[in-house]
Amino acid sequence: MSTLITNIGELVTNAPRQPGGGPGPFAAAANAALVMDAGLVAWTGPASRPPAADEIVDARGRAVLPGFVDSHAHLVFAGERGAEFAARMAGEPYRAGGIASTVAATRRATDPELSAGLHRLVGEMTRQGTTTFECKSGYGLTVPDEARSVRLAAEVTPEVTYLGAHIVPPEFDGDVAGYVDLVCGPMLGACAPHARWVDVFCERGAFGADEATAVLVAGRAAGLIPRVHANQLGPGPGVRVAVAAGAASADHCTHLTDPDVAALASSATVATLLPGVEFSTRQPYPDARRLLSAGVTVALATDCNPGSCFTSSMAFCVALAVREMRMTTQEAVWSATAGGARALQRTDVGHLSPGARADVLMLDAPSHAYLAYRPGVPLTAAVWKAGHLVAGSPA
Ligand SMILES: [Zn+2]
Repeated sequence: MSTLITNIGELVTNAPRQPGGGPGPFAAAANAALVMDAGLVAWTGPASRPPAADEIVDARGRAVLPGFVDSHAHLVFAGERGAEFAARMAGEPYRAGGIASTVAATRRATDPELSAGLHRLVGEMTRQGTTTFECKSGYGLTVPDEARSVRLAAEVTPEVTYLGAHIVPPEFDGDVAGYVDLVCGPMLGACAPHARWVDVFCERGAFGADEATAVLVAGRAAGLIPRVHANQLGPGPGVRVAVAAGAASADHCTHLTDPDVAALASSATVATLLPGVEFSTRQPYPDARRLLSAGVTVALATDCNPGSCFTSSMAFCVALAVREMRMTTQEAVWSATAGGARALQRTDVGHLSPGARADVLMLDAPSHAYLAYRPGVPLTAAVWKAGHLVAGSPA
């Protein structure tokens, strides 16, 4: 059954330069219409000349965007850290030790408990217009706990990331090499069948350049594509390691040197910015303008996790990117849709041109700018995923 959405006030397409290509630059049209058929976008054009369709939806001047692509999220965990957040806001510094408390709770949890928490977050994301998301392991840190994390994640998304190298768990205290051997050996073997990506937290206090490279090389050999947590808490080798490994994405990029920026600009590695983290840890934001000026591809993602940033809202990240990182509303929306698709090496999402998956977000607003103009306001009218209405109602 085909569906025509007509009277669209602003249709953001991010149309590719070539038909059938992945997302192109930001592109939008006023007074537009869109046809979905068999799960794909079949046609876009002016509302005055729409083709026939089985079903007609009247957008009544509202904006229609590609569904958000959240390319960085940690959704498989147990417990919560609200008190830690409150203490941090009261002046205590962010400490990496918080991750260990989530690891302990996750190990104690049953599969149904982990799955219930995961599905609750996925529902939250869907209701806020996210139609593609990545999901990392990294709170199990034993072979069976990491394996079940990626297995549960694979039930909700094809974009599963093996993050055994999140932190060194307490039982390997003082034996980083021993833990890296586990991550690159039996744990990778148990997780690779359920994952598409391999990730490592390359940071002082987590994993250094050599250890991170070893994890990415081993992951690559097991068929996984690298991505890296890089340069979040201070300057370091993360971006360099990511670019050298041909990573799809270097994530955080808060503390970069000029050579880091140049390396990103001359590579296919996307810089994924996670401004919800800086908001929630009260840290300086990444310099998005510096990256954009250098020609780096920038994605925005939530980093949804129970410690450093517990938001699942891409709209919130867009608002932060505009207000705090001086991105234009067009740049921010592009980075939250097409940029995320680039970071996940996907050509079928992040845009709404014929042939793309019909992942469609209708806002209760006339333009994409309202995502930043009306921060904190729920603006989701309706969400379609592969042509199926999955949240809200267009009525
Ligand atoms: Zn993260």
